[in-house]
Amino acid sequence: MANQCSKLNPDCLVPKGTPCPAYETDKNCWEYDWIPVLKSLPEEEQKQWGDFMSRKCPQCPAFREPMKDMMERMKKEL
Ligand code: SF4
Repeated sequence: MANQCSKLNPDCLVPKGTPCPAYETDKNCWEYDWIPVLKSLPEEEQKQWGDFMSRKCPQCPAFREPMKDMMERMKKEL
């Protein structure tokens, strides 16, 4: 399915000009494997993004069940 989350999420960063790997691969946030991307960041940034996503994503209109599973994986793997 082509990227839909950018339309569902009013806070999507893409219209503001921020690159997004999910958008660039034409995937939705809930279809994209964020863990390798986060793992490539320095530890402090991994933590900041993990905290940010845990707080923001569940409130987002684009939040879908697979994203819940991703959050669980993030807690275990990061
Ligand atoms: S994952 Fe987030 S930032 Fe990327 S396109 Fe979807 S809503 Fe926008």
